[in-house]
Amino acid sequence: METKYIFVTGGVVSSLGKGIISSSLACLLKARGYNVTIQKFDPYINIDPGTLNPYEHGECYVTVDGHEADLDLGHYERFTNIQTTRANNVTSGRIFQNVIDKERRGDYLGKTVQIIPHVTDEIKRNVKALGNTGNFDFVITEIGGTVGDIESQPFLEAVRQLRWELEDNCVCVHLTYVPYIHAAKELKTKPTQHSVKQLQQLGIQPDILVLRTEHDIPAGMRKKIAQFCNVSPDAVIQSVDAPSIYDVPVMMHEQHLDEILLRKVNIEPKGQPNMTPWKEFLTKMHSATAPVKIGLVGKYVELQDAYKSINEALFQAATYNDHLLDLKYIHSERVTPENVEEQMKDLDGVIIAPGFGQRGIEGKFVALEWCRKHDIPTFGICLGMQCMVIEFARNVLGLKEANSTEMAPNTPDNVIDLMEEQKSISNMGGTMRLGAYDCSLKPGSKVAEAYGKTEVKERHRHRFEFNNDYRERFEQAGMKCVGENPATHLVEVVELPDHRWFIGTQYHPEYSSTVLSPSPLFLSFVKAAIDYKNNKPKE
Ligand code: GLN
Repeated sequence: METKYIFVTGGVVSSLGKGIISSSLACLLKARGYNVTIQKFDPYINIDPGTLNPYEHGECYVTVDGHEADLDLGHYERFTNIQTTRANNVTSGRIFQNVIDKERRGDYLGKTVQIIPHVTDEIKRNVKALGNTGNFDFVITEIGGTVGDIESQPFLEAVRQLRWELEDNCVCVHLTYVPYIHAAKELKTKPTQHSVKQLQQLGIQPDILVLRTEHDIPAGMRKKIAQFCNVSPDAVIQSVDAPSIYDVPVMMHEQHLDEILLRKVNIEPKGQPNMTPWKEFLTKMHSATAPVKIGLVGKYVELQDAYKSINEALFQAATYNDHLLDLKYIHSERVTPENVEEQMKDLDGVIIAPGFGQRGIEGKFVALEWCRKHDIPTFGICLGMQCMVIEFARNVLGLKEANSTEMAPNTPDNVIDLMEEQKSISNMGGTMRLGAYDCSLKPGSKVAEAYGKTEVKERHRHRFEFNNDYRERFEQAGMKCVGENPATHLVEVVELPDHRWFIGTQYHPEYSSTVLSPSPLFLSFVKAAIDYKNNKPKE
């Protein structure tokens, strides 16, 4: 079958959940047996989001091949169980860089290099790159930003051109917003009409409209939108706020989005998508009533998206453990020896978040000391694991000034230090230890028990590491290095075996946790938290 291309654009406002709609579509097509991939085109100039502060763009997601990617790729993986790569996320920066490199090499043979055709051709080449591998029946391309943005114009022009070239192998899905005006008690279609007009002005006629809304949109109103926007009435679909993002694929299927889409590319849909395992997850999700209360200690607590993959991995793990996730964000800058008991006392488990830099770090040590001494299930991820090591060095090994050289370059006890290969690096973008690396786990350790095996591969994003000069002292005092990279002997996992669950991973297991294949480590952590909750001494 020829590869079919689906473009997902957005209008009216950002944050409507284009990533969730794209992921839901991919989920449904995959459940119908098609080979699917999703890619995101982001109109900003950064080469990748690796250099972006979480305040700018939420979490930075990492692919197996070590690309620092937009957080929507996390949704793609969680919804489809398919791994993405650097080819699945392209920014304007990457496009421009490629064009400029080609210009310098003389590839344009003396031509004036312009947005059209050179930049748009480069975009088109990238749009089709995954399709050209022959591995996919469907390539879904989400265009970041909102129609009307200056930044996204070259991308939309490329979509316009591709629509002609691809003929029937192309579908455009446009996501808009239908606001509810409380004072008038009315839903309003005007912003959608404007947004579609804007798209039409750029030469793109959407085939399917998905309307985000907080309230049901009456059939008559949908018909009116269809009429105004040149879209068939059945292809105007509503996406009402759902209790969970994981409900969206089923909601879309109930309105036949997958069938409508298949017909647009001349495929007569046969049977139904196999959503059985997905629906089993939803049943668990909707039946869970008992809460498990997890505290996440980090410095970006006011930002919903900063720890996206951790939130989702925890949510999946709680669901599979038949519990409701009650996630409490704890601002690491506000944890002090005076208030730590108050902040920690009703938690069933604690996560110490990843991160960079000094801000909030001392609060993480205070929280960790409390958790270690009170044997609360505790999970340190990346910087969180490094903090576990530093706290143990200071308070158990008695190395009062122990630190990471990231925070204190002149510390006498550099228990966490810059990796050898990082020492000569000065460029910040894409230069960390990134992507999936092998890790051998010690047989009999809690972490090996959690995975049910001793060889795993997980994704990394860091420059600093456990300093092996101190390994023996830690081991003797009770902090065991139970996971290491078989080739370099870098320590990847530490644990306190005599504790309920006190594990730190240099890697990020949250990146590989999906709905259909949740992270074994998160499952085990949440289970330990539930056991702890059920066996807590009554006050
Ligand atoms: N800042 C630490 C490092 O670079 C940890 C990074 C992280 O938590 N992702 O090693």
